Amino acid sequence: MRLTRSLRLLALAGLAFACANPVATASPPASAPTPTARAPVPVQPIASLPSGTQGFPWWNDTVFYQIFVRSFYDSDGDGIGDFNGLSARLDYLNDGDLNTTTDLGVTGLWLMPIHPSPSYHGYDVTDYYAVNPQYGTLDDFKRLLAEAHKRGIRVIIDWVLNHTSSQHPWFQAAQNPASPFYDWYVWSKTPGGSPGWHPSQNGQFYYGFFWSEMPDLNYTNPSVIKEMERATQFWLKEVGVDGFRLDAAKYLIENVAIQNTVETHALYERFRPFYKGVNPQAMMIGEIWDSSGLVADYVQGDELDLAFDFKLAEAIIISARVEKAETVSDVLTADLELFQPGQFATFSANHDQNRVRSQVFGDLNRARSVAGLLLTAPGVPFIYYGEEIGMAGRKPDEQIRTPMQWSAEKQAGFTTGQPWISVNPDFETINAANQVSDPNALLSLYRSLIHLRNQHVALRLGEFARVSSDHAAVFASLRFTEAEIILVVINLGQQPVQDYALTLATGPLKEAQTYPLVPLLAAGHSAAPLAANAQGGFDGYQPVPELPPYSTFIFQLQPGP
Ligand code: CA
Repeated sequence: MRLTRSLRLLALAGLAFACANPVATASPPASAPTPTARAPVPVQPIASLPSGTQGFPWWNDTVFYQIFVRSFYDSDGDGIGDFNGLSARLDYLNDGDLNTTTDLGVTGLWLMPIHPSPSYHGYDVTDYYAVNPQYGTLDDFKRLLAEAHKRGIRVIIDWVLNHTSSQHPWFQAAQNPASPFYDWYVWSKTPGGSPGWHPSQNGQFYYGFFWSEMPDLNYTNPSVIKEMERATQFWLKEVGVDGFRLDAAKYLIENVAIQNTVETHALYERFRPFYKGVNPQAMMIGEIWDSSGLVADYVQGDELDLAFDFKLAEAIIISARVEKAETVSDVLTADLELFQPGQFATFSANHDQNRVRSQVFGDLNRARSVAGLLLTAPGVPFIYYGEEIGMAGRKPDEQIRTPMQWSAEKQAGFTTGQPWISVNPDFETINAANQVSDPNALLSLYRSLIHLRNQHVALRLGEFARVSSDHAAVFASLRFTEAEIILVVINLGQQPVQDYALTLATGPLKEAQTYPLVPLLAAGHSAAPLAANAQGGFDGYQPVPELPPYSTFIFQLQPGP
């Protein structure tokens, strides 16, 4: 199994080297300046690099897409999305052909819980070694995995370690204080003074931080750690997933505090050599819904590989809402001080938050700003399914997890039966089929941004420099590696902007050199050359005379003679 996969990736790599044509894939519009016989900086397409670029891990070459399997695509008409349905729709996500741009281009999937569970969402597991039969069989899942890998897509799964379902056989057995499973959970003879304690039939009280039906596992018990290591090994080795998204990662061990305890950090330090021993390429990403400083504590090198940057997500939304660049620029700048280069995950909204369009006044234009900010930022981007077509949804949770809107057909093309929950009534206008051939649609912007990120190393791995602009609505940044320099300019505002000037006091440019610009995302625009100042930055620069409302520009700086 593993050998086959490696061979496939190698085959893909060979294909990529054979057909990679960065000039064609990043073709500037006809009106762009044609630098005199100056070829664009060589770029390395993502799929040619299965194990990472320039010493970075593979996830820094990856754009992830988060999927709620129950809501993605139903293959058998029972109204519930399933593995075979997802397999059937992989070409929408990534067709495995580097020369096409009709797919979204994502190279990683995060699947929300796929294990048996009494809940629709699956965040209370009853068996860590099986899949939810509503989603299919383990063989269906393995086929999905193989199909994804064939296309150069890695797959991580949600991993709910903090608690089990109250219906898990372990918890059932634990009701008996004489059972070896009793100590797998957290018990008290008295109700306790804090919330989270629930009465049991055995007269005692058990701890379940989130809900009475989600009893917390006891990670001070070595048997629990050992069992969860065994389950982790099963998915990495026997099934072949590429990693895990750790649910509620800051809550594993309580002391007097319930979150971010030294014991929880110590547990991850112990866990890391274990899963890296099973597969050195395995990735663990934590959900630590907290301030960025506390998030960064988990990803300093000896605990988790990545963690989600919730503050940045909030900042992206705020900047798009109020049409001012300052908030997102401030947070991105602060992130540089907190995280190892690129070792944080970026997103705009996930399954626990109102959908992006609903957070930006239902405005598809502001949703474009969100896409531009997210996919040009450093870090590892995650896109929640449906955001790329502007799906709407506000809590309660079920309403932000409604079926993917594939088309204007009955039930949005999600199922031939009755969907497990009603599709959003806006599906007749907001759907993938409507946007798939429209170059001005939100979906096209997502596709362009993702494909550019896949093709350009500076967008994926580059350092980030905040470029100041004297116009509040104009966001700008420089992303750069030794090999490539890219300038990003986004007008977050509803008015066209002419009176703006970009300044980078000091930077990585060659002193006093003039750089011609190739527009990578700037249809129909030509850009003025950029003259570096004596400190490797630039002063009062305008790449184009006017930035249209809600527009994202990406320019590649050409190397000097
Ligand atoms: Ca189904």
